[in-house]
Amino acid sequence: MNLDQATLYLVVTVVGLLMAFWVCFMAWGQPLGHALWAWALALLAYTASHVFFGLQDFLPPQVFLIGGSTAYAVALVLMLQAVRRFQGVAQNGRWYLAPLLLVPLLYALLAQYSTVRVVCSSLIYAWQIGLILAALLDPSQPRHGRGRYILLGAFGTLLLTLLARAALALLGLLDTQTLAASGRGLGPVFLISLCAVLSITLGFVYMTMERAEQRNFELAMKDMLTGLANRRAIGDQLLMTVARAQRQGQYLSVLMLDVDHFKRVNDNFGHQAGDVVLSSVAQTLQSRLRAQDQIGRFGGEEFLAILPDTSLEGAQVLAEALRAAVEATPIQWGVHSIAITISIGVRGGAITGADTADGLVAAADAALYRAKQGGRNRVEVAQAAASAGPDLPPSTERISKA
Ligand code: GH3
Ligand code: MG
Ligand code: MG
Repeated sequence: MNLDQATLYLVVTVVGLLMAFWVCFMAWGQPLGHALWAWALALLAYTASHVFFGLQDFLPPQVFLIGGSTAYAVALVLMLQAVRRFQGVAQNGRWYLAPLLLVPLLYALLAQYSTVRVVCSSLIYAWQIGLILAALLDPSQPRHGRGRYILLGAFGTLLLTLLARAALALLGLLDTQTLAASGRGLGPVFLISLCAVLSITLGFVYMTMERAEQRNFELAMKDMLTGLANRRAIGDQLLMTVARAQRQGQYLSVLMLDVDHFKRVNDNFGHQAGDVVLSSVAQTLQSRLRAQDQIGRFGGEEFLAILPDTSLEGAQVLAEALRAAVEATPIQWGVHSIAITISIGVRGGAITGADTADGLVAAADAALYRAKQGGRNRVEVAQAAASAGPDLPPSTERISKA
């Protein structure tokens, strides 16, 4: 295949500029530190590198080679920056900036040694891409997301291309003399690079969209104070778990937990202290639950825990452990140590086709009501006919209305 160099560089330049323009459009209104701005700059540097190569007939070889290669290194540094900004992590050290110095030095000092230059520059770019791949594979970052996979695939391809280029040059299978003198022969590399940059830009934009979607989902389903599932989310979970327990004939237990005399905390120490107490209690509860259990904030100082596949006895033991854990964990507020207790209502054990999420919650609520009546800081178990009992608090149908 005979690729027309001039046409190829023109296409790369136009596409690069267009992508940079649209990424700027998407970043518009965001602070300058936003990852999309860094990505737009990376695209501009990438385009600039191809403008240098495109002007090879009008510029001295040293100028277009040094300019084009350095701009390419700048683009990769900015892409790493964009990924790190997206992740909210600072890139360690300053050595990732070294290629900005190494690449022009390489082209200026080793003008005679075209093979060494091609090999070294390919390896420097490969190292830069390696840093980007390492950032994308950072174990402290979320692993899901298709955008990230697009980036991994495209950067991986680019890395392999550069390594192959270095290997071919080393083996003498690449005419580095002609390449260095005229830049001709770089065509296929830049064609692959254009495909890769299109893919990674698509991947990066998709990654930012995925995260915005994830944040919206969390806003809709998470309680912002405690980080637990909010009422809607835990209600949905209960509906699903009840249906599954009925289908599979499994046990299902439900706990309703309420902080004792919480109003006094607010009255004595202020609302802020109350908030700290709530999130601390939430943490204590969550840390004691098993992996298969779910907990959510059901109301002001009220939590609902769902214990799938758990008998009444198992639920009672767990409830007692939760009660004891909260009692044993006073909350530090300035010089004060605030002692907190909770009361728990348990509705546990077997489930029939007639049971509903609302019915289970009502039964656990009734048991909680008795725990409060019985002096607080205790666990009470729902009686068989609890949902119809006279001590039922006035809240029923709390899930289906949530
Ligand atoms: P009981 O032992 O009977 O449960 O008494 P209590 O004081 O815990 O219950 P009550 O229902 O009388 O008061 C609950 C208080 O919780 C009232 C409300 O102002 C407070 N509250 C609800 N949500 C929040 C919150 O997000 N932050 C804070 N700080 N307080 C909250
Ligand atoms: Mg309370
Ligand atoms: Mg309450």
